[in-house]
Amino acid sequence: MNIPLAHPHLSEATSRFLAGKHQAFIGGKWVDAVSGKTFETFDPGSGRVIAKVAECDAADVDKAVAAARAAFESGPWSRATGSERARMMWKLAELIEQNAAELSELEALNNGKPVPNVRSFDLMLSCESLRYTAGWATKITGETIALSSAPKMHAFTVKEPIGVVGQIIPWNSPIMMACWKLAPVLATGCTAVLKPAEQTPLTALRLGQLIQEAGIPDGVVNIVPGFGPTAGAAIAAHPDVDKVAFTGSGEVGRLIIQAATGNLKKVSLELGGKSPVIVFPDADVDVTVPGAARAIFTNSGQVCAAGSRLYAHKRVFDRIIAGVAQEAKKIRVGHALSEGTQMGPLVSKDQLERVSGYLEQGENDGATVVTGGGRIGNEGYFIEPTILTDTRPQMSVIREEIFGPVLCAMRFDDDDLDAIAKEANRTMYGLAGSVWTRDLGIAHQMVRKIRAGTVGVNVHSSIDPALPFGGFKQSGWGREKGRDVIDLYTEVKSVVMAL
Ligand code: NAP
Ligand code: MG
Repeated sequence: MNIPLAHPHLSEATSRFLAGKHQAFIGGKWVDAVSGKTFETFDPGSGRVIAKVAECDAADVDKAVAAARAAFESGPWSRATGSERARMMWKLAELIEQNAAELSELEALNNGKPVPNVRSFDLMLSCESLRYTAGWATKITGETIALSSAPKMHAFTVKEPIGVVGQIIPWNSPIMMACWKLAPVLATGCTAVLKPAEQTPLTALRLGQLIQEAGIPDGVVNIVPGFGPTAGAAIAAHPDVDKVAFTGSGEVGRLIIQAATGNLKKVSLELGGKSPVIVFPDADVDVTVPGAARAIFTNSGQVCAAGSRLYAHKRVFDRIIAGVAQEAKKIRVGHALSEGTQMGPLVSKDQLERVSGYLEQGENDGATVVTGGGRIGNEGYFIEPTILTDTRPQMSVIREEIFGPVLCAMRFDDDDLDAIAKEANRTMYGLAGSVWTRDLGIAHQMVRKIRAGTVGVNVHSSIDPALPFGGFKQSGWGREKGRDVIDLYTEVKSVVMAL
């Protein structure tokens, strides 16, 4: 495990950005918060402050919503064709690629994920989200409807942009999440007020600059860094916001729903998970072991769809656990900017305390630590990749989302698929799950029995812009990505014409 004490050299572009002012982006202008306040943002690999950022609140949200409304209703955006919007989206993706070195350093520094991971995963998916969804911009169509009881009518539907959308996002994949959220806004002709997470505002602000450079008109995208209970709550409650799209915890998801009742704005939610990884005795161990390790340790376990509960049949349990433990020990944990780092720190001191609290609770409840189990060093927020066994359904480590690199494993000795599925489904969440087997019959049956939005067979949840993503049960409302996301950002208008 290598944890460097000094920051490696940052590129000139990144240093220049960090040294600049970090203002809100409203109506195409970079502005201080109305209150004049700023907040500090940190490098979780060292705990040091790296920048100060405008702290927006309700007054700034008001301005941003007004700018978004104006851009939606008048000006060049309201007249842009799908083809024009798609071209701007492709341009933005191109600019992200051109600035990949800087964006990946900024993300690594502010979020803690290693530079190569930002490039190969976050930035790749940022660009692909924009490009894939741009394809829909020219394919938003209604239907011609044959009325069932009125033959002398011509009826059809059109899909229209929903309007001003408030978007509130978390810190686990900051720029990817911003692009994932903004892509359908741009494709459908909506406008947005986006609040990045307080922990990770920097890449969203750099993205704002690229949005300008891509020629996206003023006011189409507004970015208001700030805190959840102030800026976030103001977006969720705003009477002139038509829809709010949220990704984060269920706890805040509930607050968003309550806040939305004022003007009954539409709500879509992408919440957490506690996704099962189910290993059958015939599984290919060489595929399953690295797959199960990736499912939990990617991004230090800070992934909503992480495979955090492992169920393995007693005939393979020991081999799988030994294999995943070996993978865990091999992971090079270190500063996100250090050469060779595979896993960075957790995003914040809060998150370190939260994950450490779960580990302590798990051990108190009788879980056994197979590997890991503790903090690494005392600078930055590093935690060891951890595996717990002897976990039982009542324990908090099994019931609650830890959002850290902690795998909780359980053994099953049943061959009854319904009984296995019942255990796997014994959670309030339903975001993802995976089944590891070479038996097609088992695979297909289990796919249907798992109550989750994404199910993998011999792979854990794969994120792709073309594939609908979202949750059953308390993992969310609605499906983002794919064709489905267009429905989340459009209203259907039925038109009837008397002939
Ligand atoms: P969170 O509190 O739900 O934060 C998500 C976003 O909501 C942030 O932008 C946050 O602002 C904002 N927010 C907070 N309170 C709000 C309010 N009253 N009204 C409107 N917006 C509000 O999540 P977190 O605190 O960052 O993490 C807590 C736990 O949530 C994690 O440990 C994990 O279990 C879960 N989580 C899930 C996902 C996911 O992808 N599903 C992502 C992140 C976290 P601030 O930045 O100021 O908090
Ligand atoms: Mg929070």
